[in-house]
Amino acid sequence: MLKLDFHPSGRHFLQIPGPSPVPDRILRAMSLPTIDHRGPEFGALGLTLLKKIKEVFKTKNPVIIYPASGTGAWEAALSNTLSPGDRVLMFETGHFATLWHKMARRLQLEPEFIGLPGYEGWRHGVQADMIEARLKEDTAHELKAVCVVHNETSTGVTSDIAAVRRAIDAAGHPALLLVDTISGLASADYRHDEWGVDVTISGSQKGLMLPPGISFNAVSERAIEASRHNRMPKSFWAWDEILEANRNGYWPYTPSTNLLYGLNESLDMLLDEGLDHVLARHQRWAAGVRQAVEAWGLEIQCQDPAVYSPVLTGVVMPEGIDADEVRKLIYERFDLSLGTGLGKAKGKMFRIGHLGDCNDLTLIATLGGCEAGMKLAGVPLAGSGTSAALEYFANHPLNGSR
Ligand SMILES: *Cc1c(COP(=O)(O)O)cnc(C)c1O
Repeated sequence: MLKLDFHPSGRHFLQIPGPSPVPDRILRAMSLPTIDHRGPEFGALGLTLLKKIKEVFKTKNPVIIYPASGTGAWEAALSNTLSPGDRVLMFETGHFATLWHKMARRLQLEPEFIGLPGYEGWRHGVQADMIEARLKEDTAHELKAVCVVHNETSTGVTSDIAAVRRAIDAAGHPALLLVDTISGLASADYRHDEWGVDVTISGSQKGLMLPPGISFNAVSERAIEASRHNRMPKSFWAWDEILEANRNGYWPYTPSTNLLYGLNESLDMLLDEGLDHVLARHQRWAAGVRQAVEAWGLEIQCQDPAVYSPVLTGVVMPEGIDADEVRKLIYERFDLSLGTGLGKAKGKMFRIGHLGDCNDLTLIATLGGCEAGMKLAGVPLAGSGTSAALEYFANHPLNGSR
C-alpha cells in the first residue's frame, strides 16, 4: 500500500517471494536512455541477450522473451502448443498451479487436475508416480501435455521435474511437458534440455532480480513443431514471428527496452558469479531460514525435506492465529513485506522470500522483524530463530568465501 505522506528511513524490506529486491547495479543499467528498437545498437543488444539467456535455462534452443508478466508467458506456452478441446494433465501443487489450471479452462482446453487429496498437495511436490499411472491409462494418447509448476511460490515446495520426465518416458506417452519455473529460474536448479522440457515458462521479477514486466518461453524442437500446426488462436504470443525477428536481435513489436538493459546486466551478474554458486547461495539462505523456523518451534509449510524450496520458506502459524494479521503487524511496525497465504493457505501461513538482492544480514534483519512481530502478535515461540540463523550462517561459510 502506498502511503504518500509517510517516508520511512532506510530501505524497505521487500522479502516477498517476488518481486524480489533489485540490485542497484541493475537499476542503474535500466536508467540509461531508451534507444531506437529498430536501430543497430538495439539489434546488437538483442543478439547478446538471446544468447546469454539460454545459459540460465540450460538450453541450446531458442528462448522467447515477452513484454508481459509471467501470466502472459503461461498463456503463450498453452496457446502455441495446444488446440481448443485438447486434454491436458495438470498437477495441483498450490495456488499457482491452480491459477494455471483456471487459465487452461478459459482457453477452452480440457484440463485434468490431479494431486494428493485435500490440503496435502499444498505441502508436497509433484507425485511423478501419479502422472505415470494416469498416462499409462491413456492408451489413446488423448492427453496432449503435462503441466507442472517447478517452484510453487505459494507454498515453498519444489517439484522434481526430472522425475516427471522419467514418468512420461516410462509410460511411453507422447505428451508435451510444460513447466512453470517463474520463481525458480536463477535461484533453484533448473535444466531445460537435460530434463526434456518442451516449454519452460519464467518471469523477470523473481530469481532474475529484475522489476516485473518481462517473461519467457524456453522451447524444444517438438514444441516449435506443435506450434506450426496447433489451432489455438494466437497473435501477440505467436512464436513464429518473434523467432523470425529474433534472428537479427529484434522483436516484431516494441520490446521493453529498459527492462532488457536490466536483463543484460542481470545475466552478466549471474553468469560471472556462476550458476552453481548462485544456487548454493540460495540453498544456504534457505537452510538458515529453516533453522530459524525450527528454533521458533513452528512448522514449515513444505512437509518433504527433499523438496524444500531454496527460494522461499512458508511459515505455518499455530491453530487459532491468523497469519495475515501477523504479517500486517510486521509490515506496519518494521517496514518489512512478507508473502501472504494464498488460496487454500490463506490465513494459515506467511512466506519469507530469500531471493534477489539479499545477503546474510538482510535475512537476519528479516528474521528479526518476523520474530519481534510474532511476539507482539502473541505467537508462542520456543526460542530465538534469529540467533539460530545467525549461528548457522556464521558456521556455514559459502564455498569460496572467507
Ligand atoms: C509469480 C508467479 C506466477 C505469476 O507471474 P506474474 O508475473 O505475476 O504474472 C506464476 N507462477 C509462479 C510459480 C509464480 O511464482
